[in-house]
Amino acid sequence: MKNFDANKWARPNIRDLIPYSSARDEFSGEDYIFLDANESPFNSGLNRYPDPYQCELKKSIAELKGCSENQLFLGNGSDEAIDLLIRCFAEPGKDRILSIAPSYGMYMVCADINGIGFDPFLLNSDFSLDPPTLLQSVKPETKLVFLCSPNNPTGNNLDEGAVRQILESFQGLVVVDEAYQDFSAKPGFLPLLEQFSNLVVLQTFSKAWGLAGVRLGMAMADPSVIAYLNKVKYPYNINQLSQDAVLKAIGEVDLVEKKIGMIVAERNRIMDVLQKMPGILKVFSSDANFILIRVADAGEVYRGLLDKGIVVRDRSSMPLCDGCIRITIGTANENKLMLEALVELVESNSL
Ligand SMILES: *Cc1c(COP(=O)(O)O)cnc(C)c1O
Repeated sequence: MKNFDANKWARPNIRDLIPYSSARDEFSGEDYIFLDANESPFNSGLNRYPDPYQCELKKSIAELKGCSENQLFLGNGSDEAIDLLIRCFAEPGKDRILSIAPSYGMYMVCADINGIGFDPFLLNSDFSLDPPTLLQSVKPETKLVFLCSPNNPTGNNLDEGAVRQILESFQGLVVVDEAYQDFSAKPGFLPLLEQFSNLVVLQTFSKAWGLAGVRLGMAMADPSVIAYLNKVKYPYNINQLSQDAVLKAIGEVDLVEKKIGMIVAERNRIMDVLQKMPGILKVFSSDANFILIRVADAGEVYRGLLDKGIVVRDRSSMPLCDGCIRITIGTANENKLMLEALVELVESNSL
């Protein structure tokens, strides 16, 4: 949609909400004597509340991503953005969200926590998306559609034309979770932001940036949508240590790009090795930092690897994922040990 109206689509009590106004909302600046927030006056580097809107950090991220600061929301992980999107735009006990399946589990958990109906929409068996059928599955109560590209746990990108069709035809918000976009050879969906005011793109510093412990995620969308997320977030949702850590990491972006290059090279190499390994029934192609494989007995492979000290994720209970195991790309040495362990499992004939 090109003229999405966030005010019309928002939950009525959130539209009418008067948000909490913090001391730093009411006055900000430098070189003042701050006696307004009941902070300690003794400088420890952390005695002051952090910037509630993370202006310095947003400036840096906006530049990195090529968006403007008012198109950017920062959350305590992208999980916070997922939760807030649902809370702002879906009415408990009445509205619903739809998500592709298999995909990231948090969409359903956040819907459940908020009392929002959840409709999984099954991908094709090759994990591609059929837009006309998805659009037919949308109900009058469906307020948000969650897509994920590259998708977790499948690893594939969604087709740009397919996502465009959904953006054009669905009246509500289309959230594209791009947690793994930095590993992908495709351009992703940020370039469509100016064109579609119902598009929300989620990215994170948890995966390619190597900062899962910092908890910083991003939502990028039309400023009218971002304003709603800011209205309901905790006043100081991004702590000072996290803001500092991410600013520092962005200053060393070359280092991150080098690491991404190494992970992508390892991923491609391991896909080739796995493809030739007997006992591996299928290696799904991946644009992320993990590979999904199919084996005859996922439980047995999972336990066999665990016995050898290697933890992977058994995804065989997910829709379309019979016999599937998801393996994250580690260091070259970790990957070598993983491949050796898999070969041993094959040779001892337990595969
Ligand atoms: C890992 C992952 C996230 C996690 O995001 P955080 O920023 O760590 O909260 C979000 N979406 C998908 C699809 C993921 O796989």
